[in-house]
Order: sequence, then C-alpha cells, then structure tokens
Amino acid sequence: MANFTDHLKYLNSQGDRLRGLVESWANTNTAADNLAGLARQAELLRDAFAPLGGETTLVDLPPHERVDAAGGTVSVPVGHALSVVKHLHARPHVLLCIHMDTVYPTSSTFQRVERVTSDRLRGPGVTDAKGGIAVMLAALETLERSPFAGNLGWEVLITPDEEIGSPSSLPLLREAASRNDLGLLFEPALDEAGTLAGDRRGSGNFSLVVRGRSVHAGRNISDGRNAVIAAATAARMLDALGRELKGITVNVARIEGGSAVNVVPDLAIVRFNTRVDDAESMQHVRRCIDDIVADISARDGYTAALHGGFNSPPKTLASAMPLPDYLADCGRQLGIDIRFLPTGGVCDGNKLAAAGLPNIDTLGVRGGAIHSNDEFLLTDSLVERARLSALLLVRLAAGDLPPLPRNARNPEPPSSR
Ligand SMILES: [Zn+2]
Repeated sequence: MANFTDHLKYLNSQGDRLRGLVESWANTNTAADNLAGLARQAELLRDAFAPLGGETTLVDLPPHERVDAAGGTVSVPVGHALSVVKHLHARPHVLLCIHMDTVYPTSSTFQRVERVTSDRLRGPGVTDAKGGIAVMLAALETLERSPFAGNLGWEVLITPDEEIGSPSSLPLLREAASRNDLGLLFEPALDEAGTLAGDRRGSGNFSLVVRGRSVHAGRNISDGRNAVIAAATAARMLDALGRELKGITVNVARIEGGSAVNVVPDLAIVRFNTRVDDAESMQHVRRCIDDIVADISARDGYTAALHGGFNSPPKTLASAMPLPDYLADCGRQLGIDIRFLPTGGVCDGNKLAAAGLPNIDTLGVRGGAIHSNDEFLLTDSLVERARLSALLLVRLAAGDLPPLPRNARNPEPPSSR
C-alpha cells in the first residue's frame, strides 16, 4: 500500500506560521454585524489564500430580515463571503467551508489574542473558527504541493454570518452543495481530545409577534387586549411542548413588550429556539407551534404572527458515509484516534447535509471554552489537524479512496427564514 503520509512533510515547518495567521485574524473583530471588521478580515483571508492560485471572489450576500422590537421586519446587511475555486472540472470536487464571523460583539472587552503558554492561545475566535481557517488553508497548500494536485477540484467558502444562523449565506451554501461531491467543514472539535461531531440535532429559531389592543389601565381596562399576557400564555404552551414531546426541546429565550404601567400593552414578542432529534420530530413540533399560533390568533381582539423556521435540519453521521470511515482510516495512518459523538449544537454542516452534500464538519482545531471570554486554542492541533485533512485530500486526489455516492436530495430544504 502506498504511503501517502510522505506528502505531508511541508506541514512540519508550518506551525509557527499558522499560529501567527490565527493571531492576526483573531485580533480583528468580526461580529456578524461588524461590517468594517468583516471587510478587513475578508481582505486578510483573500491575501492568505491567493498563493493557492484559485479563482477568488468576494461574494455579495443579500441582506436578511429580522423581527425588530416594534414587531416589524427590518433588513439587515451582512459582510461578504470569500470564495476560492480551483480545478473546476476535476472530480471529485470538494467543498471546504467555514465562517469568519465570531460571537464577540464589536464592543466586547475580549478583542486581543494572548499567548498563555507555548502551546496555548487565548483569544476571540481562535478556535471557533479562525484556527479552522488556518487548518483548511494548510491542508490545501499541502494538496497543491503534492504530485496529485489537479486531480481533485476544490472550492473554499468562508461565510460572514454563521454565528447568527447563516440567514444570508444559505442560498450560497445550497448552490455549493449542488456542485460539490463532498464537504469538509472546519468547526472546532467537540473537546480537547479532538472528538468530532456525529449526529447533530436540528434547530429552529422563531419570533412570535402577538398584538392586542392598547387602552388606559385606569379607565377602561376591560376594553384592552393585553399582548404581554397573551404572549406569556403562548410561552407557557411552547414550554410545555418541550416537556411533553419526546426528542424535542423548546427554549423560550426572551419576551419583549409593554410600556408604562398604566397602559395595557398591545404588542409583545416571544423569541424561542427549538431543537429536534430527527426530521419526523421537526415536522411534528412545527405543526404544534402552528396550532399554538392559531389558538392565540383565534382569541377575541388578538393576532399572532410567527416568523422564523428550522434553518438547520437534523444531520446524521450515516448521511456522510463512507466519508467518516475514510477519515478514520487517515487517522489510523497518522496515529490520530478518530471518534464521533452526537451533539445538540448545529452548524452549516446541517444545512449542507439537508441539501444533499455528505460532509464532516468538525475538522478544525482542538481547544475549548468557545463563545466565552476564555476561548483558547491548543496550538499543536493546527498542524495535527492540517495533516489529517491534507491526507484525506491527497488520498482522494490520488484515487486511493473510492468516490463517494451522491446522497438523494432532501425533499424539504431548510427554511431560509
Ligand atoms: Zn463555529
């Protein structure tokens, strides 16, 4: 059997450089609404990927709609996505995907990367997912230096809105799913040991806008229709769904509404998230939510309108087969133990799987405390994980792994709302 690990030697000298790239990227704030920061980041990434020689595009994304505090929808602009495509007509064609935005607001106190020890960086987005961008870049550099470059087509897609559910990138993700044969996503591993995500639950975000009738609380309260109370009723009913239905959780996260204490409020908004184990549960809970909306709307003097949807349908490890087996085999050759565990978290891998693209989505770095001011990256994992993805790419390019069958298209693509 040919030993393809010989083609990974380039990576032995890349550790310091990759760490430096992560530092420079993570020192740039890229909250999903920080358009200036995202524009700077897109430029940095374009420069870093340019030597690969692919066709590079900064893709304009459409704004997305959000329900504001007045119960209306507002249009919200987003940053650009970076696309790099090379060897367009080679097969198989691989999508390499990750996001440049982070959860840290523009005003966050957590803005700079710090070298905690020789093998540990602490900083905003070092692990989720700027470390993953470095892993992806290094894996592609290795492939392109190998004698098999040109046998494998690839497309890089780095999006600016994943942390808010990819509302503007979704059409782009679906298009990418349709023209690639498999997907590699560089979200961080689930833990410091490097466990990868297997089955992922589905997730939907919703805003329920309840309207009633406003009157003076002292003069004619019985003519009023209290939207806050109706919203609270809906919230209790939603919460009960999560308690009563198997495989479904509902988190009522926020209720907005009301003004002065002598005014019966005519507007309230319930914001909630629901997670499901499988497609059947997703359809069932959606029907139950619609029933609750209809119940509130049927009450005299009230209306209720639901916004949002299941933007991330459930994803199974089985849908990616035999890709997980290929990765495990690469892991064996490198002495990396490959394990998959189910998780309740969602990512763009859910959306790509729903669009029919078999994918593995946690090929990024090992680290921890993501989405907190303690987020850290274990820097040894930059080269380690780049070796893993590079070996997979090189073996695919060399024809050492059988081509993947395309999955049947999901009849119900994820909602864009
Ligand atoms: Zn992420």
